[in-house]
Amino acid sequence: MSATERKIARCVSCDGFGWFEDEFSGEAEDCDWCAGAGYVFRDESGRDKPIPKRDYAAVAAELEQLEVERLREMGYQGEARKPWRQAIRKDTHLGRNPYCRDADS
Ligand SMILES: [Zn+2]
Repeated sequence: MSATERKIARCVSCDGFGWFEDEFSGEAEDCDWCAGAGYVFRDESGRDKPIPKRDYAAVAAELEQLEVERLREMGYQGEARKPWRQAIRKDTHLGRNPYCRDADS
């Protein structure tokens, strides 16, 4: 119905990370609010919903752009995480960018 009106917003719960790290146990957990994607669909009334997995492909370019912006905000100059990596991240939990460490080329 309002599918064309939906916007993608950064998840307010995890601030785009898609997961939380437990301060005490050190274990990572996927964010419930965005189902681990880091971004949600926001409808006209301002309600957020997780982006369904089947919609990832349709919004992949937009997600990637948002991720680039988010990483720039944090001062990261490298390449954004690809959307397909977010699925992998669910399995590995700690979805640190493996290129972060030697990205100063
Ligand atoms: Zn979230």
